[in-house]
Amino acid sequence: MSADDRVTAPDPRAARLSALRDVLATQDLDALLVSSLASVRWLTGFSGSSGLVVATARELVLLTDFRYATQVEEEVGTAARVVIVPQSLWSGLWDALGGMLTVQRIGFESMHLMHRDFQRLLEQGGRWQWRPTTELVETLRERKDAMEVAAIRRAIGMAERALDAVLAALAPGLTETQVAGALEQALRNEGSDGFPFPSIVASGERSALPHARAGSRRLQLGDFVLLDFGAIADGYCSDITRTVVLGRASEEQRAVYEIVREANARASAAVRPGMRGMDADAVAREYIHDRGFGEAFGHSLGHGIGLEVHEGPRLAKTADGVLPPGAVVTIEPGIYRAGWGGIRIEDDVLLTEDGPVVLTGYRRDLLEIA
Ligand code: ZN
Ligand code: ZN
Repeated sequence: MSADDRVTAPDPRAARLSALRDVLATQDLDALLVSSLASVRWLTGFSGSSGLVVATARELVLLTDFRYATQVEEEVGTAARVVIVPQSLWSGLWDALGGMLTVQRIGFESMHLMHRDFQRLLEQGGRWQWRPTTELVETLRERKDAMEVAAIRRAIGMAERALDAVLAALAPGLTETQVAGALEQALRNEGSDGFPFPSIVASGERSALPHARAGSRRLQLGDFVLLDFGAIADGYCSDITRTVVLGRASEEQRAVYEIVREANARASAAVRPGMRGMDADAVAREYIHDRGFGEAFGHSLGHGIGLEVHEGPRLAKTADGVLPPGAVVTIEPGIYRAGWGGIRIEDDVLLTEDGPVVLTGYRRDLLEIA
């Protein structure tokens, strides 16, 4: 995209605000106080670590502090009325709300408000009616627009090129931490803004721990090496897992790997908007169960990705929510056997009305790293 395209393309923030206004109307709210920084960013473009937004039917107000005066001007432009607050964001909030004469009922985000801040609302904001809300903006964020999908694609490209670099250097004797360091260095070299989560590198029997971090174990020939990591591009995350074998794979490693690969392929091909998260989960889970490894797939199939690496919608046994078009979700079945090792293959999939589009392209056949 050239600079000219950026100027002439419609600003996606206008559509986001309009969608939020529809939600406020249905919820019978005059305003929403947004304290989730990811949602602040989604609505305004502001990526700083200190911000509060008030959204009403008439305006969008962003409060931040003086450290961000320059940044906020560049990122937000005219998308919101920016108030630079000299001290606490909360003192600025009372001033801003005081000028909004028609605002009475204000929603706050119950998942994103610390208890001491909630007390402030009650003590200092007693002239307004405060209503708890859950996931109003998060639900809107599940549907990605073209610019968001493009950013996720860039984050995937960074992750896949970093994986290439790291697999080329994988060798017996390296510790998992060293491999994770090389991976994160490669992600930085590719331009990643940081890491959505501490990269997981788990080898040998440790690969059976689905949430292992990288540790001091040294890689050995014959190990499964599971790498689960992501990149961040313009705030948007990718999340990918590949499991490889160092040296030659055993027949048993091949056979179990093949079950996970097939479960991943089936779920990636079946997942659709309109489907419930639990039905997508069942595609992979039943396949793994039928091959005798039902107990060994102990986590859910996947989750949405976007400005946060774990967001809606959920693809899990208990997820009865319907998957919306435009969501980008992970498909990450696994089999974990204590003392033997574990395999997970994770891809990022865009849900469209025409079917799933698998955005991750990295090969999924069992790689034996010589
Ligand atoms: Zn992952
Ligand atoms: Zn994931």
